[in-house]
Amino acid sequence: MLPDQQFLRIPGPTPIPPSVNGAMSQPMIGHRDQETNDLLHTIKPKLKPVFGTDQDVLIISGSGTAGLEAAVVNAVQPGDEVLVIVTGAFGDRFAQICTEYGIATHRIDIEWGEAIEPESIQEYLKKHPDIKAVFATFCETSTGVLNPVQEVGQVIQQHSDALFIVDGVSGIGGVNMEMDAWGIDILITGSQKALMLPPGLTFMAVSERAWNVIEKNDRPSFYFDLTKYRDQLANDSTPFTPALSLLFGLKQVLELLDQEGLETTFSRHRQMMNMTRAAFQALSIPLLTNAQAASPTVTAIKADDFDPDTLRNVLKNEFGLLTAGGQKHLKGRIFRIGHMGYCSPADILQTISIIEIALNKIGKPIELGKGTRAAQEIMLSGGS
Ligand SMILES: *Cc1c(COP(=O)(O)O)cnc(C)c1O
Repeated sequence: MLPDQQFLRIPGPTPIPPSVNGAMSQPMIGHRDQETNDLLHTIKPKLKPVFGTDQDVLIISGSGTAGLEAAVVNAVQPGDEVLVIVTGAFGDRFAQICTEYGIATHRIDIEWGEAIEPESIQEYLKKHPDIKAVFATFCETSTGVLNPVQEVGQVIQQHSDALFIVDGVSGIGGVNMEMDAWGIDILITGSQKALMLPPGLTFMAVSERAWNVIEKNDRPSFYFDLTKYRDQLANDSTPFTPALSLLFGLKQVLELLDQEGLETTFSRHRQMMNMTRAAFQALSIPLLTNAQAASPTVTAIKADDFDPDTLRNVLKNEFGLLTAGGQKHLKGRIFRIGHMGYCSPADILQTISIIEIALNKIGKPIELGKGTRAAQEIMLSGGS
């Protein structure tokens, strides 16, 4: 193992492309100078297709959770009722933010590892017509589930006037998203997942309907007042000093996405998911989610007859390969592989073949190459 080589296969932060690292090391510029306006002017139109929206995408310095909190603070009035659909740790975080602000928070809890069934919320919305906003997670990073937010959006539109607010943090940039067409009113992501940047930025897009609610909201906010960001961004500017180095990097990320083509980016992610899933299936090691619910950006693997954290220690200490463990009640029961952003099918082959060695080292004997071969077959056939 090389002392400075690391294979970062956790579901965020993710590896940074060398050209993005290069862009971020540019000298600082004045945040009120024309150079910053030009930078935002270039970035603005290129973010829209990543979100699938005609709205400007707001950029705020802060981690993804800052965006989640900003959505709650701006869109939910004191005294409102909301519904949070919880499919794992990040859905739970949305619910905690709402509760913290004294909002009457209904939750639908779905077993971790499973996706939302859109019909299941229909009854709930009918029974609780005062619900003003429904919160959901696109990719539930703690379980590797991709929730069918398009179908959920349809159900909400048919049965309620509630806003639909979606945490897209580990999906946007790796998975197709059509915010406007799917009836999503607020969509949030962060910089350190599929967007190939260091942590530090949160991105938010807001529908016309949601702006109407936000403008009438009496809940106080200052740094998170989204109307400030919207009004400044209309003039290619920001209300406060932006994280300029991250914006230099973002410009280059959007250039890379343009070069690859978003459709190709999305099919690359599906291929990495298929390779990862096929590998563990070939090794007879069960996956947490079924194929229909699986996310193209992260895969959770069940460790029924070995200790996932012992495996992760060997991977890290002997091979420099970083994977993630389980969260909350899945701790010690699963491990997770992130395959999003600056990650290719070739990286997945390497990841799988190293894991095969490490499994043997921790006393879980498997036939070397069996999982790698299954992944190779998918790569050879171009399966995505
Ligand atoms: C990573 C992540 C977040 C944001 O976490 P931060 O640590 O605040 O950046 C939120 N939601 C999901 C689904 C995530 O994967």
